[in-house]
Amino acid sequence: MSWTHEFKDALKTREDLSEFFETDFPEIKFPLFIPKVFAAKILMAGPDSPLWKQFLPHSEEDSNLGRLDPIGDKVHAKNNQLIHRYENRVLFTPTTVCPVLCRYCFRKNELSEKDEIFDQKFKEAIAYLTVNPEINEVIFTGGDPFILSNEKLALYIQEFSEVESIKYIRFHTRTPVILPSRIDEGLLAVLTSASALFKRCMVMIHVNHVSELTEDVRDAIALLNENHIEVFSQSVLLKGVNDTTEDLYNLFSELADLKVKPYYLHHPDEARGAMHFYMGLEEGRRIFAPLHNKLPGWALPQYIIDIPGGEGKTSAFNPESFEFNGSLINRNGEKVKIN
Ligand code: SF4
Repeated sequence: MSWTHEFKDALKTREDLSEFFETDFPEIKFPLFIPKVFAAKILMAGPDSPLWKQFLPHSEEDSNLGRLDPIGDKVHAKNNQLIHRYENRVLFTPTTVCPVLCRYCFRKNELSEKDEIFDQKFKEAIAYLTVNPEINEVIFTGGDPFILSNEKLALYIQEFSEVESIKYIRFHTRTPVILPSRIDEGLLAVLTSASALFKRCMVMIHVNHVSELTEDVRDAIALLNENHIEVFSQSVLLKGVNDTTEDLYNLFSELADLKVKPYYLHHPDEARGAMHFYMGLEEGRRIFAPLHNKLPGWALPQYIIDIPGGEGKTSAFNPESFEFNGSLINRNGEKVKIN
């Protein structure tokens, strides 16, 4: 079956889930979407597994705790497609569609928006990059950019390559884990041509637990490696999913063996509907610190936190103290109070 068929053959309602998993799930306001091919892995892993907890709905999603836009995307949105938070780089959001809907997602309050508005805005995005030459990197995110067709990806890549200042191109994606069949010949050809058009072309795979690295996912990563595509990873620290040093060690050491550079470990965001995955900074620091003793520096990701309200990323690990005094340093070097 092609990846598009696997993608379309999905569980989308509470009734679909109940039938497939033979379990009752709570009625929640956030949308549901799990391709059956991935749902089968969740079913095999069982109800206490990191897979189940990440992708199946929980009654706490209806809690009013947390923020609707926890990292301040809307503060830095330039039009419907670009988010310009840092001087040298932009997030490009060509789609709101994902290969799965993760229950912890910090964008879960935006993912129901329609895609059509995005197409109309692409010309504005190119114009913005042209008059802001300090921007040298475009990061495709979403939604998930690998859900776009190869033709559409190739078109965007070509257009960006014609903006002289853009040197680097990066794809943030969860698709290789959810639908590894997406890493097919056509996509590999698109990525290979992007590698020739830019100084660096990078794929950043979102993966949170070693149990997500099943045989087919490893094969997909091997294909990226064989085609000389640089592969990095980003993970989110999540309560009840990967909140022990051992969980993180197993994940990062396995990724390193697969020739994937662990790049970011995100502290969980205070996202509305995902606060049951949240933990304080002190707890996160205590989980992360022992990794310095267990992993080589090149296999240790940066542990970072997005300061709420659009202040940007900063280091979440303070080597001088586990205790959190209530303020973080933003990208302008100023202290910002957070909860
Ligand atoms: S794939 Fe990414 S953007 Fe989509 S729901 Fe999951 S975490 Fe959110």
